[in-house]
Amino acid sequence: MSRFWSPVVERLVPYTPGEQPKGGTFIKLNTNENPYGPSPRALEAIRASTDGRLRLYPDPAAADLAQAIGAGFGLGPENVFLGNGSDEVLAHAFHAFFAGRGPILFPDVTYSFYRSTCALYGIEYREIALDDSFRTDPADWRAPCGGMVIANPNAPTGIALPLAALRQILAQAPDTLVLVDEAYVDFGGASAAGLVAEFDNLLVVQTFSKSRSLAGLRVGFALGQPPLIEALRRIKDSFNSYPLGHLALAGALAAWEDRAWFEQTRAQVMAERGRMAAGLAGQGFQVLPSATNFLFASHAALRAETLLADLRAQGILVRHFTAPRIRNWLRISVGTAQDGDALLQATARIAAARA
Ligand code: PMP
Repeated sequence: MSRFWSPVVERLVPYTPGEQPKGGTFIKLNTNENPYGPSPRALEAIRASTDGRLRLYPDPAAADLAQAIGAGFGLGPENVFLGNGSDEVLAHAFHAFFAGRGPILFPDVTYSFYRSTCALYGIEYREIALDDSFRTDPADWRAPCGGMVIANPNAPTGIALPLAALRQILAQAPDTLVLVDEAYVDFGGASAAGLVAEFDNLLVVQTFSKSRSLAGLRVGFALGQPPLIEALRRIKDSFNSYPLGHLALAGALAAWEDRAWFEQTRAQVMAERGRMAAGLAGQGFQVLPSATNFLFASHAALRAETLLADLRAQGILVRHFTAPRIRNWLRISVGTAQDGDALLQATARIAAARA
């Protein structure tokens, strides 16, 4: 606190990202990074982009990348908005579409960044209670409200909402903007990108951080009809009119075009997810069905906070949230098969020691 703080800063409760340890050698299963790394073609393109271009400003329209991403969904560059990671895209979207309106809706268990962004822009929200299996009923998502935010698949639960349910939500609230956060969609969810042409109240947000393993490059994007994209550009240009630097533009474009790497690595993640889920279930964990690159798991006989600490002591980082409803759950990112083996051995040791 300082007397120089504005009321806006006073009310902020910033989002706390997962730990990025400086020292030590940890098996990092706490921030849903992709263990396989980005396409080698992306790394090469990033290296090549450190040539004389860095003296110059990047393309403010990010035209080549917007074109390529749009084409991937049968859309045009006028349907694509780019930002520094999907967090930035989400923040701009909250500002552009929700600030100054009535309360927006999102689930009681979801990505906590939404709450922080509401605090930033003074947006009120109402939480929709997920049922006992952490699923949502489309009938609960009703106007009037200031907007709706649906992470699909949801985080940290990993549960996907079928496209038919999303379609119902979009159709029953045609005058309400529905923001669908698809950070994890490439690991088994169904993307709403194909509904963009049909619904002018839909904004889909995706990222290069997960399925393209470029969390460190910070590239995310939104897909929507042109008036929505225009609103996001107005907001962004009032902050910083260059969406991405040369390195990010070049790396993301090459990663986007390397379809083979994308397909191969996401298949590996999904296969390892199945193996890890079966292993944990075999040890008595309840594991939610995941359409993401992480598992949400709980053990009736082992407190999540104890597990978190014991795993850390064995060099494995996982994520724990303190919200009462999910206090006994851990979110565990899918790593390599080696990481998975280490995790399963550690959980077995912990269970045996505490039995
Ligand atoms: N949405 C969800 C649901 C997430 O879990 C994350 C990652 N923490 C993001 C968006 C943001 O990812 P990024 O900013 O790296 O694109």
